[in-house]
Amino acid sequence: MLDQIDELFRQQREAWPLLGKGLVGLSEAKTRSVRAAGSDVLVRHIPHRVASTTAAVDRESIRRRPCFLCPENLDPAEKGLAFGATHTIYCSPFPIVERHLTVVHRDHRPQRIDGQLETMLDLAKELPGYFVVYNGPECGASAPDHAHLQAGSREGLPLVRGVAGKTGLATEIYGLRALQFRGDDRSRLLDEIVRALAILSSVTTKSPEPLCNTAVFHEPVAGWTAVIFPRSKHRPHAFQTGELTVSPAAIDLCGILVAPVAKDFERITGVDVEAIFREVTIPEEAFREVVARLESGR
Ligand SMILES: [Zn+2]
Repeated sequence: MLDQIDELFRQQREAWPLLGKGLVGLSEAKTRSVRAAGSDVLVRHIPHRVASTTAAVDRESIRRRPCFLCPENLDPAEKGLAFGATHTIYCSPFPIVERHLTVVHRDHRPQRIDGQLETMLDLAKELPGYFVVYNGPECGASAPDHAHLQAGSREGLPLVRGVAGKTGLATEIYGLRALQFRGDDRSRLLDEIVRALAILSSVTTKSPEPLCNTAVFHEPVAGWTAVIFPRSKHRPHAFQTGELTVSPAAIDLCGILVAPVAKDFERITGVDVEAIFREVTIPEEAFREVVARLESGR
């Protein structure tokens, strides 16, 4: 699979000018490290992400634009690789990380984690050295109307170091509360994640799924690590006021905070990052209730 993806990038870089431009944009990205709640977070300045960061994702705006993930609306030069029975892998033309992929469901159907979790685990296992993420429809997915995942190289990804050696279900990293699941038993892991999502949904009274982002990666001996980041909201107050153009989605929560505007990149501090993460994560009381219910088997 890795060879096929390398080949896809090689071919698409030549054939699809938008991807070529995106890869140059990524190579020119500036990154600096800040400390947030005792952990490293990378702040990455990538000007080509501004459209994604500020995308209108309200129902009316989505209804009025052609879906950019449906095959008939793709650039004729954009080609993909089939993955499993349901998804197709494309190169992301607006990369945040190396080998950034958009993994698109074959059907135009709403963004849901239900029906994509299996693909997340399988893709993570097929792609050593990668991570796979899911953005909830109200938590950073720029196409809430078309089911999709993302994947990319996890080299230097702060989340990987942040959860290494941590045991237990509940964890906290750079101000974010999270649930972690580990192991090499696929069906047990799927059951655990589905149950956690159902409890989150119930406690936060949000259906058909809770506000969340999810990340999965796979290691040869340990198996999968899946991290659910329950959310209270998508965009922080500083975005709404125009103070900072940051709009955290799954990759940001994995520790690479995208700052498409130069002045934000230059001035944002670890204290700011921690405050943003604390604002968008699930409130403490609800999180405690979720963890208690998960641990008690209710
Ligand atoms: Zn579509």
